[in-house]
Amino acid sequence: MSASLQKGINALKEVIDAPVASYFSSCVHCGLCAEACLFYVETGDPKYTPIHKLEPLRRVYEQEYTLLGRLAKMVGLSKPVTDDELESWKELVYDSCTMCGRCSMVCPVGNDIVYMVRKLREGMAVSGHAPDGIKGATKRTVEIGGPMGLKWPAVANVIKKAEAATGEAINVDKPGADYLVLLSSMEIVNYPEYLEALVKIFRKAGLTFTLASDAFEATNAGIQIGASDIAKVIVSRIVNSAEKLGVKYVLSPECGHAYMAIRWEGPNLIGRPYKFEVVHVLELLDDLRKKGVLKVKDKFKDPLILHDPCQIVRRGGVLDAPEPLIQSVAENYIPVVDKQKWNWCCGGGGGASAIHTEEAEALRAKAFGIKKRQIEQAGVGTMVTFCANCRIVIEEAFDHYGMNTQLLGLTELLAEHLED
Ligand code: SF4
Ligand code: SF4
Repeated sequence: MSASLQKGINALKEVIDAPVASYFSSCVHCGLCAEACLFYVETGDPKYTPIHKLEPLRRVYEQEYTLLGRLAKMVGLSKPVTDDELESWKELVYDSCTMCGRCSMVCPVGNDIVYMVRKLREGMAVSGHAPDGIKGATKRTVEIGGPMGLKWPAVANVIKKAEAATGEAINVDKPGADYLVLLSSMEIVNYPEYLEALVKIFRKAGLTFTLASDAFEATNAGIQIGASDIAKVIVSRIVNSAEKLGVKYVLSPECGHAYMAIRWEGPNLIGRPYKFEVVHVLELLDDLRKKGVLKVKDKFKDPLILHDPCQIVRRGGVLDAPEPLIQSVAENYIPVVDKQKWNWCCGGGGGASAIHTEEAEALRAKAFGIKKRQIEQAGVGTMVTFCANCRIVIEEAFDHYGMNTQLLGLTELLAEHLED
């Protein structure tokens, strides 16, 4: 057996733990997970059935940890997983899985398929089979600080513009502020209005926030590529900074997997509870709405629908905040049938949007078909969401299909309509 082949198998053997083993052994091959996956639904190709995407991991599990599998391997009835096979499997583990978690919701035996994808990604990353786009983002995050390679001066620039627009000074590295505000690189580059919106909302609420020059990036490429050690380094930057500044809360931005990383995975990664609370910006907004702080002067009039980002809503548990918030600022909110925990992914989560091969981009556009139909069926010209990554993916899809639909960020929409 070649060294590289051995490396791949060893990496997969390493990631098989009790949950993975129990999920494989309890799968009843019903195929229900297929109908829950946007890639299968939009292409009709059985290779996109969620449980099938895990086939190399299943084979290693069977060959190494079950009696029948070991016997089958011994007599040559079950082929070992090869390095070439793992390389060709990249498309199924990264391009066509956004870790949206919809498949895990329908499995009759409760298999957490996203957990298994995470584990397979860990093995793929260790054995050198992660896609170049995600590898590059991870390298830039570790070496420079963020997936796009942004440094503090880029943030300082956005701060300066927000200060000029709001007339308010923004704290940097200020000990004792109520909140440490995190941003995603995508917000810094593509949606700098988000920070401006926060300034207005915090001013209205009488709360204070600071940014940290050594921990401004919220996204976590380590989680996407499947490397827990890197994910831990990235989370630790935020934890150290927040605890040094003594803030009560860390505010996770409009970014899906950033919230998943800092809110849910972080304490496990660093092996202890935080000395602060993590709040998603929508949770803060909804709390302020309930307290009557977010009174609007007028409402957005045109009909619109909401896109619920998977990692914030279904997987993140921020289920109840989005609808009351949108209803508070939109006169004609039209709920889609598959909403909240049953939402369909935009097609670019879980690091998929960082993969820029022709095939990955074509598949992403195809998978967007579900969202496109939602917009057409509702007959609206506006969609609202609250994840910067979703926004970029959706805008690319609008462009691809030549759709004349506008996309708005919920925090910005609320800030724009706030009472003076
Ligand atoms: S997590 Fe989402 S994208 Fe991945 S296999 Fe499941 S349904 Fe498909
Ligand atoms: S839904 Fe669950 S039991 Fe059915 S094929 Fe998928 S993983 Fe297996």
